[in-house]
Amino acid sequence: MIGVYYRLSLSDEDINEKKKESNSIANQRKTIQMFLETHPEWKHEEIEEYIDDGFTGTSMERPAFQRMMQDVRNNQIKTIIVKDFSRFARDYIEAGDYIERIFPFMGVRFISINDYYDSESTIEDNGMKNFEMVVKNIVNTAYSRDISAKISATDRTKQKQGLYLGGYRAYGFLPDPSDKHKVIVDPVAGKYVRMIFDLAIEGKNTKEIAVILNERGIPTAAKYQIEQKNVTKEQSCWKLKGESWTRETVLRILRNERYKGTYVAREIVQVTPCKKARMRNPEDKVVKIENAHDGIVTPEEYEQAIKVLRTATRRETKRKTKYYPLKGKVVCGYCGRHMVHFEQLKRGNHFRCRYGKNLPDGQCQELPVQDSVIEDMIRNSLSMHLFLFDKALDVLAAQEENILLKKSKLEKQQEALYQQMEDNSREKVKLYEQYSEGEVEKEVFINGREAFSEKDGEIRSAIQKIQEEKKKLIVSKKPDYEQMKQLKKDMDKAGSVLEVSMEIVESFVSEIRVYNQERIEIIWKYDDEILQILAQEKETMEVAI
Ligand SMILES: [Zn+2]
Repeated sequence: MIGVYYRLSLSDEDINEKKKESNSIANQRKTIQMFLETHPEWKHEEIEEYIDDGFTGTSMERPAFQRMMQDVRNNQIKTIIVKDFSRFARDYIEAGDYIERIFPFMGVRFISINDYYDSESTIEDNGMKNFEMVVKNIVNTAYSRDISAKISATDRTKQKQGLYLGGYRAYGFLPDPSDKHKVIVDPVAGKYVRMIFDLAIEGKNTKEIAVILNERGIPTAAKYQIEQKNVTKEQSCWKLKGESWTRETVLRILRNERYKGTYVAREIVQVTPCKKARMRNPEDKVVKIENAHDGIVTPEEYEQAIKVLRTATRRETKRKTKYYPLKGKVVCGYCGRHMVHFEQLKRGNHFRCRYGKNLPDGQCQELPVQDSVIEDMIRNSLSMHLFLFDKALDVLAAQEENILLKKSKLEKQQEALYQQMEDNSREKVKLYEQYSEGEVEKEVFINGREAFSEKDGEIRSAIQKIQEEKKKLIVSKKPDYEQMKQLKKDMDKAGSVLEVSMEIVESFVSEIRVYNQERIEIIWKYDDEILQILAQEKETMEVAI
């Protein structure tokens, strides 16, 4: 059976009509039908449709997606077809997990029509691309995960006049009820923003401020906007990661010039011709108008906070250079050399290769990769591994149970054999007695004695066989089961940690290979173990069929 997956996301509504139409379920269905018509080999295949209407979130939150994955697990679906990757997964990391790990493992063929991707074709046949090439086109989404105002060309005039256009609103502001194009200070969230600036002016660094805010139970921007119902359904998925303050969210507030009354627009722009990807606009292209609305702090206070923050960050950076857990783990995939870690307030902390220019082939372009991208990937992969580990542990538990069952069966058989042996020797003694008392002839006695000895030999060899089988059972029992359980426990603990700590990196990550901005490979310390378990699980699944 072929699984066809459609998704209509709420974000499609915000985009222009043409785009909306092209992403409609009807349109997705048409694309897929046309594709199927050109592939007669699937003519007689049954088609099952899975439709998620208005769900964005992660794959875990989409009901039809979940149903499809269940059918995959039940071996009902062997091929999955989607119109394009964006229908299927939210970003490269998620898509990568499915396409590189889960589907190959489950033996599912995956086709994304508009990306020219087919997991069973190479570039040579059908002009289909391999995953790596496709990833180059969608990796940008990992860099622009921030929800930004979606601004069309016709809105630019309004922007130049400093008019608020709706959509994403900065934490601490509300729309002006008398003029929807203007903003006023939110009396509640405005106080929180004020508090953050005050703490920064006092000399606290971003990490210290985040700790204080979390201790005082101040809602994050995401949490607050959701509580106030200021967000679309799509944005409510922030809830998952926006529960507590981090250095980054504090920094984002302190660097937002809107708080000193500046109107800011076009910070994020769409990259053409690849329409989906967005990036930060260069500083000189961002539209800014000073004193456009009421600020939460004065321009002087704003400058002071930034100035104090710089010293605080420099202080912290000095201390941190020794401790940033990913340092020493990140290498350039092309040069194989360690990448240099840059800690910059303005561009954000990032890794960058410094040797590529010396190489003749020019593959390494010394492109920066943000810490947050690598950290996100580690977190995402860890949670995926947790899922796989869970399954693997189930398999191991089932195997152990199976072994115990077999063992007890063998023990019962052995018990019965010992009983037979006893009965046999009792019979033999009886025969001796009968012979000595003259009740049986000598010939009968000799034949009988031989028969008893023979039977005794048979029983003994059967017992030996059972003992050998029992020994084999002990050997085939995985000695690393306990170790796996411990690893899983450690990962559970790590999975609930928001920050990628030294502990996590030391326990799980062996190396991180960065290939410009195309691809990041994480080499895990437990790869062999997980592969071994997964191979076992595959075996078990095949046996089950
Ligand atoms: Zn390099």
